[in-house]
Amino acid sequence: MDWNRLADALIQDDNVKALEEYEKQYPERALEKGAQVTRLAPSPTGFMHIGNLYVALANERIAHQSGGVFYLRIEDTDEKRKVEGAVEVIHKSLKYFGVKFDEGADLCGEYGPYYQRQRAEIYHAYAKELIRQGLAYPCFCTEEDLEKTREYQTENKLLPGYYGEFAKCRNLTEEEIYANLAAGKKYVIRLRSQGDVNVKHTFRDEVKGEITVTENNQDVVILKSDGIPTYHFAHAIDDHFMRTTLVIRGEEWLSSLPIHIELFKVLGFRLPKYGHNCSIQKIGGETRRKLSKRKDPEASLNYYREQGYHPEAVRTYMMTLLNSNFEEWLLKNPDTPLDEFKYSIGKMGKSGALFDIVKLNDISKTYMSKLSETEMYDFLKTWVDEFGNDTQKAYFADKEYLCKVLVLCMGVGSKKRRKDFICAKQAVEMIAYFFDNSFAPVYEYRFDKATVNSVLQGFAAIYDEADDNSAWFDKVKKVAGDNGFATDMKEYKANPDAFPGNVSDVAEMLRIATTGLSNTPDLWTIMQILGKERTLARLSAAMINL
Ligand code: GLU
Repeated sequence: MDWNRLADALIQDDNVKALEEYEKQYPERALEKGAQVTRLAPSPTGFMHIGNLYVALANERIAHQSGGVFYLRIEDTDEKRKVEGAVEVIHKSLKYFGVKFDEGADLCGEYGPYYQRQRAEIYHAYAKELIRQGLAYPCFCTEEDLEKTREYQTENKLLPGYYGEFAKCRNLTEEEIYANLAAGKKYVIRLRSQGDVNVKHTFRDEVKGEITVTENNQDVVILKSDGIPTYHFAHAIDDHFMRTTLVIRGEEWLSSLPIHIELFKVLGFRLPKYGHNCSIQKIGGETRRKLSKRKDPEASLNYYREQGYHPEAVRTYMMTLLNSNFEEWLLKNPDTPLDEFKYSIGKMGKSGALFDIVKLNDISKTYMSKLSETEMYDFLKTWVDEFGNDTQKAYFADKEYLCKVLVLCMGVGSKKRRKDFICAKQAVEMIAYFFDNSFAPVYEYRFDKATVNSVLQGFAAIYDEADDNSAWFDKVKKVAGDNGFATDMKEYKANPDAFPGNVSDVAEMLRIATTGLSNTPDLWTIMQILGKERTLARLSAAMINL
């Protein structure tokens, strides 16, 4: 067989250069010893899974901690899955969580283009080379042919795929090949695998440790019929020429590792280090399962932006999933920037990472409680500008007023900060009662109408905005006493049946009337913030609505 002639007949691309040219164009990177070059290589599907952030953070930390490079490569070889604007989504969502690339798609970089579709000539050059060496061949099998093989293999419980006796085009003669070409038959290019599935090797996975890998024997497709490479082929060539030293990716790729090992070998490239990290799981009923794009809204990175989780809180939470010693470090260094944590690939979980929204919420609450009122104002404003409605946008017109609300709701200045806020959406909803346009109370009192009416009326008659907290409380007590409620807790506890309730029940009625809620921060301060007119108007409205 004249392999050179075959290579020229099968791949016609005038741009193809001599292989040494590519080695010259993309030289080894001049980096310090130990510096790692890592990448994130998503397909532009428009959907960013929380797993993408998980992998991105691991790769970013390792690259930057070692003085290396972290880049973004867009794996857009699958036209069907491609979505307009997807690269922007990738950049935007990762940037929000503080993941920064040094180079890559839509950024500058010497190792580009970083979109696989723009790198066709390199893939063609190497596919040609493999054909010349007899390590790749054209396959004219149709979908129906492949389907028949699949059926036969299933019926006979054989390993699926294109290999051995099932690799029908592997040994076509020169005449047969040219006859097929002359007949205009479509073809793909397949690897002529040299592997043997009976041979196993020990492989050091950077995350999982020593694993056993079976040799590949599949004649996988390397170029599709339109000349576009498959993921396997493209990633091997790109990781070589972008000089990737370490690939951290999801464990769903572990089963493809044998193919990748063989491809690097036949291409004559040094295999980078690989680490396959575990998938993010959740408890669904009795079982643990992978976070699913279809079933779980929290699987999408967008979810966290839409809910207004603070990016630092999400990052902190992700670090607890990524490194087993992170929480201990966080306890000792609660106020140290996250990037000072020494991330270690060896401390990544070997089995599934369990996603726990309750824990994320706890971390978020703690993070949010540490912000100043103006930081919180800015954070909430940014969220509302993008996701809020017009009524919520109006909250931000009077910064002084809103900051007073935030000081109270966060407990700024008090000994212990309140931890009421989890995320922007919930925080903005939580403060709605401070704004008349969104104040929509559902009054739920635990006492009868006549009692509530008497309490509200009694208090409205003596309320004075100038009262300090203790004078104000004396008035609440007075109203309590006037209505037969206990004002002395000891007395009440000794004989609870003698009273309809105590002073805190009276305060609760006032709270519900003023805010629509039975649980709020300090009521005296709320009334101070609302001001006399609004407080009295709310008490009257509550009486009318009894
Ligand atoms: N394009 C693959 C994906 O969409 C990337 C796999 C890898 O990182 O090698 O997940």
